[in-house]
Amino acid sequence: MTFLFTGSGERYGYADRFDEEGTFFYFGEGQKGHMEFVRGNLAVLNHSSHGKALHLFHAVGRGKGQKYLGEFVYQDHKWVIAPDVDGNSRRAIIFRLVPVTRLEQFELASADEPAKHMTLQDSRRRAIAASKVSGLDDSKNGSRTIYERSRAVRDYVLKRAAGVCELCKEPAPFRRSDGLPYLEPHHTTRLSDGGPDHPQFVAALCPACHREVHYGEHAQAKNLMLRERLRVLEASEPT
Ligand SMILES: [Zn+2]
Ligand SMILES: [Zn+2]
Repeated sequence: MTFLFTGSGERYGYADRFDEEGTFFYFGEGQKGHMEFVRGNLAVLNHSSHGKALHLFHAVGRGKGQKYLGEFVYQDHKWVIAPDVDGNSRRAIIFRLVPVTRLEQFELASADEPAKHMTLQDSRRRAIAASKVSGLDDSKNGSRTIYERSRAVRDYVLKRAAGVCELCKEPAPFRRSDGLPYLEPHHTTRLSDGGPDHPQFVAALCPACHREVHYGEHAQAKNLMLRERLRVLEASEPT
């Protein structure tokens, strides 16, 4: 897991803030000179492809502790010119982070028309590409939205499962209105489901197993078992 902290007030001329849709603008790390994709900034950039959850906290004030703002997903970033701690102009990174809860419902919606006709390998390539981003430029990940990236991973995971729950190995309990077997994507390294993750960290589960890995008596053990199963499964796929 990666923990991000946002203070009250401004950090070196830029205040972290939410927009009206709940997207969070997070100023990168680095007090002096140009910012770079190292340490914390690199961790934010790569959290999806590394299967790491991003948890955001707000420092309420000195001695008052931290308020938990929730789990977020990296959407994209841009470079801006902003003063550093010495007042010198430098290149700085502003991340756009989306609350996972906004993506959760979205992944339960039905599959894209083009994805249905894609081969498993093409669908896998598309999913892995969707989980990766480049730090070089203002990154829009090939201008694809966070929803499209999220969906690419979901579509592949459902195709990989081929109508069978990846935990209990039973067929999906019913078909959706579009005729596809009903299974739910589960992100094994997140508290909430949603967002582009490397498919090694996402399973397709029947609704009962999905509830169980979140709320069951043996939730943690089952989730760990699932992670190991997916790791082996994905490692055997040709790249
Ligand atoms: Zn199941
Ligand atoms: Zn889940």
